This record gives sequence, structure tokens and C-alpha cells, in this order.
Amino acid sequence: MKPCTCIISFVCLLGLAGCSSTSLPSEARSVALVRESSNAVALNVPEFAMADGRLTLNGSLYRQADAETTTKSHIDIVFLDAAGRVLRSEVASFAPRDLRLLPRQKARGYYSVSITDWPAGTASIRVRAHETEHT
Ligand SMILES: [Zn+2]
Repeated sequence: MKPCTCIISFVCLLGLAGCSSTSLPSEARSVALVRESSNAVALNVPEFAMADGRLTLNGSLYRQADAETTTKSHIDIVFLDAAGRVLRSEVASFAPRDLRLLPRQKARGYYSVSITDWPAGTASIRVRAHETEHT
């Protein structure tokens, strides 16, 4: 093995070791995250994180400029298979509930959902801002 190859291998190993302690489960790395804003709430790009060894989905959002209120909104987390069928749907709330429109900046709300039971066959997760109540 040439010296340079040796160094590259070593760096790669370090990289892998550094990653493995905080790496996401393979299903979270391969899933497609789709976000859907509503008339009242706009979503920023959600992302997965590991918190105390548990997988969580975190995201932030802000109030749409022409929305009257954000207090009637919530977040739907919908697990879909490759054919687009709903495997499971969860409702999450965000905080603070009432996002104000400030003169120069958008007040942000945050949500964090811990995913304890990942449905088998999940191909994508739709994160949707939603105003209509679930029955
Ligand atoms: Zn909903």
C-alpha cells in the first residue's frame, strides 16, 4: 500500500467512526420527506435527528402573511408506502401556537415528533400543515 492510500483509508475510517455515534437509522436516511404548507402556515424543510437514542423529526414553520391566525393549525405526519398509500398518520402540534407577524421578521414555531414505531414499507413521509379538524 502506498503511503498516500494509507492516509486516505485512515481518514475514511475516522469519518465513519465519527458518523456512527450519531447516525440516523437507514430507513430515515433513505426516506423522502415531503412538506406541504397550508394557507395559514408555511413549513421550512424538516429534518431527522437523534435525541437520547430516539429518532425525532424536527421542523420549524412560520405564519403566512395573509393568514388570520395560526391557532387553528396543526401538523400531520403521514407515512406513505411506495404506491402512495397511507400507512400511518399522526397529528403533531407546534409551539408557540399563535405566531405573530412581526414588522421585520417572521416569528417561528417549532415542532418535534419522536418516531418510535416506523411502519414497515415507508417510502416517504409527508409533513403537512393542516387546519381542518380530524374526526
Ligand atoms: Zn390534520
